[in-house]
Amino acid sequence: MKYIKYNLLPSFDTNTYLVWDEDSMEAMLIDVAAPSKEIINEIKSLNLKLKFLINTHGHGDHIGGNKSIKENFDIQLLIHEDDAETITDPHKNLSTFWGDGIISPSADIKLKGGEKFKLGNKELTVIHTPGHSEGGISILIKNLLFSGDTLFAGAIGRDDIPGGDYNTLVKSIQEKLFKLPDDTIVLPGHGPYTTIGREKKGNPYVGLPY
Ligand SMILES: [Zn+2]
Ligand SMILES: [Zn+2]
Repeated sequence: MKYIKYNLLPSFDTNTYLVWDEDSMEAMLIDVAAPSKEIINEIKSLNLKLKFLINTHGHGDHIGGNKSIKENFDIQLLIHEDDAETITDPHKNLSTFWGDGIISPSADIKLKGGEKFKLGNKELTVIHTPGHSEGGISILIKNLLFSGDTLFAGAIGRDDIPGGDYNTLVKSIQEKLFKLPDDTIVLPGHGPYTTIGREKKGNPYVGLPY
């Protein structure tokens, strides 16, 4: 798998990922935080076949580019069913707190968790990881885990916003993400990458005692 990380919304430092299978050149975008000519040009110049746009959850700092991507490519927008209403409602996605309000096109596929999709001959799996928001998901493909605002390097997502719940968040991480192999590379919605092994040992919020 290949990927490029972008920071399209510096005020939030949201990570946007363009991910592709180098054999088939089939690609997906994860959390396009703002409209971006750079990404559109990159997809065209690499000749990628863009299949999916996936939102790890519905918050305004992760969905601002949805409209522009949908206008430029014939692709499907995927989000968990519990966050699906959020993306079309600027109050629910909290974007009215910091701007004019973001309204995304509605989802083409509403996920429940556990779905598998193909990117070339590689399989991606949707893992429902609620706690930061009700419909938070993580995406696993090969040894890459896109963890949204669920798990960060040395931290976890906020639970003090609508839909957030601390115990649910910790449970998602410990019971679902920490079951993955230690060398799984974690690519979060904000900040640097990490690994499952490193977070299991060293994360002060969810690390296992040893
Ligand atoms: Zn969030
Ligand atoms: Zn975020």
